Amino acid sequence: MELCTYKVNITGTVQGVGFRPFIYALAQRYLITGTVSNNSKGVEIVLNTDSFTFKQLLTAIEYEYPPLASINTVKYENLSYQSFDDFKIIETKEAGDVTANIPPDVSICKECEKELFDSSNRRYGYPFITCTHCGVRYSIIYDLPYDRVNTSMKFFKMCEVCEEEYINPLDRRYHAQPIGCHDCGPKLELMDNVGRGVLSPTIDNVVNLLKEGNIIAVKGVGGYHLICDATNEEAIQKLRERKHRPTKPFAVMVRDMEMARELGEINELEEQLLTSKEKPIVVVGERTPRPTDMIAPNISRIGLFLPYTPLHLLILDKLQRPLVATSANVTDEPICTNLEDLEKLQGVYDYVLEHNREIVNGCDDSVVMVVNEQQVILRRARGYAPVSIKLPFKLEHNVLALGANQKSTIAIGFDNQVILSPHIGDLDSIGSVEYYKKNIKTLERMYHFKADIIAHDMHPQYESTKVAKELVLRQAQEPSIRQGEEANNLSVTELVEVQHHYAHILGVMAEKQITGKVFGVAFDGTGYGNDGKLWGGEFMICDYEGYERVAHIDYFKLLGGAKAIKEPRRVALSLLFDLYGEEVLTLENPTTQAFNPTELRTYFIAWQKGLNAPESSSVGRLFDAVASLLGICQVMSFEGESGMMMEELYDSSVVGYYSFRYKDGKIDVLPILVGMLAENDTTIAISKFFHTLVEMIAVVYAPYDLPLVLSGGVFQNRVLLGLVLERFPEAIISNTIPPNDGGIALGQVAGYLNKMKEKNERE
Ligand SMILES: [Zn+2]
Ligand SMILES: [Zn+2]
Repeated sequence: MELCTYKVNITGTVQGVGFRPFIYALAQRYLITGTVSNNSKGVEIVLNTDSFTFKQLLTAIEYEYPPLASINTVKYENLSYQSFDDFKIIETKEAGDVTANIPPDVSICKECEKELFDSSNRRYGYPFITCTHCGVRYSIIYDLPYDRVNTSMKFFKMCEVCEEEYINPLDRRYHAQPIGCHDCGPKLELMDNVGRGVLSPTIDNVVNLLKEGNIIAVKGVGGYHLICDATNEEAIQKLRERKHRPTKPFAVMVRDMEMARELGEINELEEQLLTSKEKPIVVVGERTPRPTDMIAPNISRIGLFLPYTPLHLLILDKLQRPLVATSANVTDEPICTNLEDLEKLQGVYDYVLEHNREIVNGCDDSVVMVVNEQQVILRRARGYAPVSIKLPFKLEHNVLALGANQKSTIAIGFDNQVILSPHIGDLDSIGSVEYYKKNIKTLERMYHFKADIIAHDMHPQYESTKVAKELVLRQAQEPSIRQGEEANNLSVTELVEVQHHYAHILGVMAEKQITGKVFGVAFDGTGYGNDGKLWGGEFMICDYEGYERVAHIDYFKLLGGAKAIKEPRRVALSLLFDLYGEEVLTLENPTTQAFNPTELRTYFIAWQKGLNAPESSSVGRLFDAVASLLGICQVMSFEGESGMMMEELYDSSVVGYYSFRYKDGKIDVLPILVGMLAENDTTIAISKFFHTLVEMIAVVYAPYDLPLVLSGGVFQNRVLLGLVLERFPEAIISNTIPPNDGGIALGQVAGYLNKMKEKNERE
């Protein structure tokens, strides 16, 4: 057959995952000559072969690609004939836009694990063993393309043996950027809490310190963990006291599935997630009787994960006990990624297990759960981010989306894809806002990205909104940045506001590639509405061109504004005033008992006059009110506490729901509260409250023949989500982005479309 020259371009996650050696091996198999290289868009192959073999090659690429790779597009063209002597992997070409995906950090692979415990292997016990199929990626990358010189491994010069593996296309470590060994790679250091290297950094020493009840800060992949022996109640108590974290559940790292089963009841899908290459924290039901109440006080769920680095694996293998492993961060601040950050926690840990490979990009552990056989991501970070998400349409402009204010993430959108950053955190402190800005810069730098549009939340007080305005202002002061870039009709970056709950629903639509109209239910904490009120119990018909708010929970007042978010008693009191007015002052129930008489009087006046009492339709706050009225929780010590405690009290054998009024698109919840107050069994009241919310969705949704889409932070509630999915098995939820505000940025990218349409119509 006639030989032709073809050029093939492959996009997707194809760099840093062993793609070029994979192509090289295929070239050997099919006796093909030519070259393969990385470029800024992905992988490029130029080859000589006949048309029949070429088809075989394309099929092999499609079906056999390496485990960490994913392919978005394969495009090819015929070139004029060139001749090659053999097949070569050639150096990276630098050019054009960067659209190659940054591979995420993944856990240690089976082969590396085998070598780690093989005393005859030269990397036996090496805590940083890695290969093309596993290990750190995103967390060590300064820039694309993904080559060693663009990572924090550039400071480690490979020894001869490592170098040989690195340059051999048939070796598992061919071009695996983070490789090293005992001789040439990163090394451990074990220090006390003032930074003195007191002990030799052996796994034995680390394990002994843990057995003695010490708390150790361990530098991992995307930051430090604070770890201690999970079977040592005193150590856990010490960690709680020092970290000022009285009750919030801790995650537990276990050696293997066997140890996981000693602590949790794990179903098939949960096991798949626990052992996946991403190795997230999986929140599962706790085994009864509970081994200890210290890990998750009063809560029968436990977050488990398996060791994802060789270092963690070595420690757990020797310790043979579970470990409490929680992110090392100061409350409201991002995860610590270097010793300087960690010093702020000096009083919390006893020792530091340090290593000398710099963490370039911080990244927390991911958290997932399974509800009705579906994966629900609660925190999308290590292992999952920054993987790109494909849109069901092509973007005309480059969009930077800044997310919300809590659990924030940012996103950049171009062509038909969105890169969503890992979980950044709440923007409640100067440190976290700085970290957030750094993340924006990182994404912009790595992808050589310049935004035409900045999409942001409508809330004027959100830090993300302020940053959006700052970014545009900065640009106005430095007009030179945008010179010569008027090709896409926009001379300067434009701001577009996207309503919070609309963005929630759009996020799911984008993830699921939905293009038509949907019926969206956004049950959420609070988000800024078009009328300046704090929405959060919204029923809206949505498509990419806009939304119509067809129904919502009728407004109630949040006494004390932001304070009401942490204090369920304030929301409950406000609803009691709505029901009984001044009579509340003499009423005796768990809510009124949580205040003194002076406070009650003050809040009554505030309620009457609407002083510092913004109106809200939030279902999240309604949950809080119920928790307070039933005496379950008056002031929360961590976000979501009231909902978790209500999950505990739900009894699936209870039937029935409370009536509510639904008229003119408004749902009056006061009758629900009246019903609950008349109930004298808390479990019955709570269970019926859950059913009431399901009934509410059923009633409002009934007249619409549209797909049902659920989003918003309230759907992190396992009981509620489970009940809604039972009633509406076809309801659509997101599986790769979180239902909470961590998914907002993706929705904002999609939400800019209707703003552009409005703009075009005006012109
Ligand atoms: Zn490996
Ligand atoms: Zn070496």
